Amino acid sequence: MYMKKLSKVILPTTFALAVTMSSSISADPQSTPNGPYIEDDQNISLSSFMSNGELYEKLHHLESVSNGKMKLEIAGYSNESPDGYTTDDEQGFPLYVAKFGDNDPDKKKVLITSQIHGNEQVGTKAAVDVIQKLASSSGKEVKEILDEVSIWIMPRINPEGADNFYEDSWYPTRYTHQTWNPEEIGLAADTEAPWYYNEDGSERAQNNDGRVVYGIPGYDENRDYNPNMDFAIEDADKEEVAERLNSRSTNNSNYGGYYVTAEARTVTSVFKEFQPDVYVDLHHRGFNTLSDEDNRSVPLQVAAVVATQEYVDPFTGQTYEVDEDVQKLAKQVNALTALSLQKGNSHFGAVQKYPDVNLPGTALGTFALNDAAIMLMEIKGQSQTLGQKQNGMLKETVTKPLFEVFKGLADGSIHEVDTQVYDDIPESTNRISDPTTRD
Ligand SMILES: [Zn+2]
Repeated sequence: MYMKKLSKVILPTTFALAVTMSSSISADPQSTPNGPYIEDDQNISLSSFMSNGELYEKLHHLESVSNGKMKLEIAGYSNESPDGYTTDDEQGFPLYVAKFGDNDPDKKKVLITSQIHGNEQVGTKAAVDVIQKLASSSGKEVKEILDEVSIWIMPRINPEGADNFYEDSWYPTRYTHQTWNPEEIGLAADTEAPWYYNEDGSERAQNNDGRVVYGIPGYDENRDYNPNMDFAIEDADKEEVAERLNSRSTNNSNYGGYYVTAEARTVTSVFKEFQPDVYVDLHHRGFNTLSDEDNRSVPLQVAAVVATQEYVDPFTGQTYEVDEDVQKLAKQVNALTALSLQKGNSHFGAVQKYPDVNLPGTALGTFALNDAAIMLMEIKGQSQTLGQKQNGMLKETVTKPLFEVFKGLADGSIHEVDTQVYDDIPESTNRISDPTTRD
């Protein structure tokens, strides 16, 4: 299952350039040219790597062939969100949103995001695939969908982690790039960072004793959201913020994040503008088999529940909870996804349910608490561990169900899906351990 021969890989130009440069400027044979990928993670799918530049080029091309169906916009930057908030990064990457339809309240609305964790790139391949199908098809199916449903897709919401380099090699990471700088937002210099700050810039790996320190601090963007979507740390009561950050009992995953990343703020601004009925976030995870009796490899885990409890905002006292009808629709969306992948006893159908979690600081948790029916799609494997030959299949496990969901929303049939189907999806179990994979 591992790809061993690099000679079969077509290196993207930026990568090839980086390798050439590193071998000419470094005299130390131990540090160059082989980054951790090439030495130990030989199963990495280099040919599927899309740099930020390549992704943007592709998106512009798809807009140009869409006959006006698709509008490509820059929603914000990785160092500057639309509300004017800026971070210390010198170079910011745009966060694109591909819009099919406007935020017409008479239409059903779906928002899809991918690569909130920069090392989870198959989701982005799938998101681009969905964009491509919607943009380039002149068929009846797409027309019937877009007549009734507006679909906005943000295929890479952590462009810094996605295009990270380590020792001159491409090394995508979970985290964003950003240094905790409390004084910049009016807090004392010794104020503790939000708990999801990755200060040393380290990542799990298969080599180096299970850890690579690439040295660029950043955040887990998927803990930086806050059910109070208007929260702005620079405007909040400084003493209260400091007190909460400096205590472990309040600086943890039971609470919303601090919107310290421009990325999370940018995505939230899109959410607030669009107010989608359905929100889908694409991730990767590890490897499982379906059950003790059924050893099919699980291609996809889904979840409709990422906020199990009501949330009380500690700053305003306001309560947020998942609306009953919204939760029902979320289960129907997830159930339809699982149903659409059943085909005999094929590998596609070995779908599991991600465990119910209560994470109000995730994009899914925050948006579920703000009236979006959510679906978490956790695709098997991660950039560091995924063999490229499964990419096509795994992409299909995302695009096929999403089109079924679009159709179900367009003709209303989604509301007839039995939520029991969701409840009956096998729970996550039989995990095959791999030190590099996280959810
Ligand atoms: Zn993830």
